[in-house]
Amino acid sequence: MEDELLLAVSPPPPPTRPADVMTAGGEHIEGQARCDACEHLFTPALREEPDGSGGVVGRFDCPHCERRYEAYAIDARGLSLRERVAGAKSDRHRRHLKAQLKAHVTHGRGLLPA
Ligand SMILES: [Zn+2]
Repeated sequence: MEDELLLAVSPPPPPTRPADVMTAGGEHIEGQARCDACEHLFTPALREEPDGSGGVVGRFDCPHCERRYEAYAIDARGLSLRERVAGAKSDRHRRHLKAQLKAHVTHGRGLLPA
C-alpha cells in the first residue's frame, strides 16, 4: 500500500540527480541522488512541510553541503484526494481519483536558491 501511494501520481524515474526525484508522497525514496551543487551521492530523505495554505511541500537536503531541494508540492485539495486514493475501494475509483490528483501536484522545482 505504501508503494502504491508513492506511485500515486507518477512513477519516480531512477534518480540520478535530486531534480529528477519525483513522488507524490512517502517519507523516503529508494535510490540515490547526486547533489547538483557538490556532486555528493546520497539517498534523499523526504519530509513534508506545510506550505502555509493547507498543502504540503516535499523537501530534502543534501547531507554534505545542506543545499535544499524541493521534490514536489501538493495543494490542500490534493492532500484530500491523496487520502481518498489510499482508501479507494475499487481500482476504477482509485484510477479516477489519481487522475484528479495529478492536477494538484507540482513536480520537481529541484535545487532551491542557497
Ligand atoms: Zn550537496
